[in-house]
Amino acid sequence: MAHAVPVGRALFDDVMVPNYAPAAIIPVRGEGSRLWDQAGVEYIDFAGGIAVTCLGHAHPRLVAALTEQAQRLWHVSNVLVNEPELRLARKLCELTFAEKIFFANSGAEANEAALKLARKYASDHFGPEKREIIAFTQSFHGRTLFTVTVGGQPKYTQGFEPLPGGITHVPYNDLAALAAAISDKTCAVIMEPILGESGVIPASRAFVQGSRELCDRHQALLIFDEVQTGAGRTGELYAYMGLGVRPDILTSAKGLGGGFPIGAMLTTTAIARSLGVGSHGTTYGGNPLACTVAEAVLDIVGEPQVLAGVRRRHELFMERLHALDQCFGVFTEIRGRGLLLGCALQPAWQGRAKDFVDAALARGLLALVAGPDVIRLAPSLIIPEELIEAGMQRFAQAVADLVR
Ligand SMILES: *Cc1c(COP(=O)(O)O)cnc(C)c1O
Repeated sequence: MAHAVPVGRALFDDVMVPNYAPAAIIPVRGEGSRLWDQAGVEYIDFAGGIAVTCLGHAHPRLVAALTEQAQRLWHVSNVLVNEPELRLARKLCELTFAEKIFFANSGAEANEAALKLARKYASDHFGPEKREIIAFTQSFHGRTLFTVTVGGQPKYTQGFEPLPGGITHVPYNDLAALAAAISDKTCAVIMEPILGESGVIPASRAFVQGSRELCDRHQALLIFDEVQTGAGRTGELYAYMGLGVRPDILTSAKGLGGGFPIGAMLTTTAIARSLGVGSHGTTYGGNPLACTVAEAVLDIVGEPQVLAGVRRRHELFMERLHALDQCFGVFTEIRGRGLLLGCALQPAWQGRAKDFVDAALARGLLALVAGPDVIRLAPSLIIPEELIEAGMQRFAQAVADLVR
């Protein structure tokens, strides 16, 4: 629909809280792995929002599911249950370790529920002393005060004190540090299977399995924050499936809705019992529109050939990124799983990941940073191979623009 008064980037500074610094262009339309801005300029999307649009933009099956549901039922509150919510919960239980699901609207809310549940479960079964949460430095779990405090990045909590207590941070991938910190007072250990925001750093199998054993020994719950790694992103439906462990609680969001807001907390029946009637809730959690879209996402992403396609695209990306680096020598390491990839910059380029992303944008390519020193790619899981090739050419032009 046309608007009487034009809406441009300058309006952001007039009417929006200045907590973001969006780029100068405004996308107005997307199709698959391409976007177009107000001026009709085309961009290839290697960002997927931020690892969110796992099936690209305007996927016909998601559009059909959403519009069909939009004409039927939008909201009934949690005083009533609805069919899409039940179908999605059943599907998540069928596809994962989970026996019980709680729906929220974002990753932070799913983690908030997971952390509250871990505290409540410990309090119900072991008494009030068992309430310590162990998390990892540089991790990211969302922006509510509880989740941002659990995330190990002081820059995100400064000025927001007093912070919730009983939270300890230890270095990621350091089993000895975890073993030293954990005790019978620990109620939960929360980890990302890959540090997403902080450099795309995968957890080692030994670390994950050792963490599982330490949690078992101290009767602490292991929470996997799969907000970024879930919904097929790593080439497994959930990353835990490739790591030989089963978490007690898992959170999913981002890709789960393919761009429609939803969060989910997955757990077992025995643990779920601690969130009895009235103990927790959210107005929009489980709303029919979000659950309908997420069900369609899982129907597609759950197909073995789609997950196999993610692993094939991973190989293609790795090959092209290594070839690019042969030309320019700007990366120390190219890492990640599936279609969550990180290019770590050489010492000479430290702190300049954002410059690479800006240069890519100027060449018609959307990419992301993961901290100041790593370029992150998180494209659609079904991005066509010719768009990978075309996007990599634009990336090479952008790197050339910077290096020269
Ligand atoms: C993005 C992210 C979150 C927060 O999700 P929101 O939907 O922004 O609240 C939490 N954990 C991880 C690992 C994430 O990548």
